[in-house]
Amino acid sequence: MDRRQFIGRSIAGAAGVAVATSPLAFAASSCSTAPAKKGQDVELKLSFQEGTAPGENLGQKLDYMENLGIVGLEVGGRGLKDRVSELQQALNGRNIKISAICAGFDGFILSEDPEIKNLFDTTMREIVEAAGQLGSTGVIMVPAFNAQTPCMPHTAETRQYLVDQMHELGEFALKCNTKVILEPLNRRECHYLRLVGDAAAICRDSQSEGVKCMGDFWHMQEETSDYAAFISAGAKYLQHVHVASRGRRLMPGEDPEVDNYVEGMRALKEIGYQNYVSFECGTKGEREQTVPAAVALLREQWQLA
Ligand code: MG
Repeated sequence: MDRRQFIGRSIAGAAGVAVATSPLAFAASSCSTAPAKKGQDVELKLSFQEGTAPGENLGQKLDYMENLGIVGLEVGGRGLKDRVSELQQALNGRNIKISAICAGFDGFILSEDPEIKNLFDTTMREIVEAAGQLGSTGVIMVPAFNAQTPCMPHTAETRQYLVDQMHELGEFALKCNTKVILEPLNRRECHYLRLVGDAAAICRDSQSEGVKCMGDFWHMQEETSDYAAFISAGAKYLQHVHVASRGRRLMPGEDPEVDNYVEGMRALKEIGYQNYVSFECGTKGEREQTVPAAVALLREQWQLA
């Protein structure tokens, strides 16, 4: 049995379901000659969004997550201030922390309409305050989805405006003991911000320790290299990672021919990434099978990276 077969079988065995070995072919070949790297000790901290785990309520989902060794919970930002004590109680005594807060605000930061911009400012700051109370690594935001109009034009002046606005927001987040996290998306959803390196440059120019960015393996179809994308952000700016299958945004492993995360993971190890890799995906299968299979796949690939 060669290494590729061995890895494929061990994943299938661990998860109790068949996972095609093809995504690992490249993984195995690409690591076979790699020297020992700085950062091999970096821990893979997996996180689930609230809808990822099977279970009828949050308690059941958290039990399931703990059994799988999942250490982060990502929740939506909408209504978060009314959920702070509920979430604190649910996590009390567990080995699971709030990873990031996913958006949930109204309006958007690049709106040309002052009322909509004001709505963003108010609701985003409310979520940031609650995120700080929950010990979150940050609150995820997108500057403008394609469908959000009227939007400021994609010009140098708009970028400077965004940088200035992010500075203010980042400083506010720091006072709340959290961060704001810019998420690049693919061009179909947000042409304005598509690349991790571009988001990192906005973080740099914002000149606030409270402004960070993230990468989402699904949207990173825009990148020419997962490795280069994460390296370009570095530990200084990379605050969060989303993961999904790379063909249909399902559980990692459900698109076996393309679900290779090894090059990106290698960069995460090399930069000494300390934050979470959080599931943001659906499934076409039974969660009781696809969720543990996905966790096993990511852990196998992390070992290879
Ligand atoms: Mg995402």
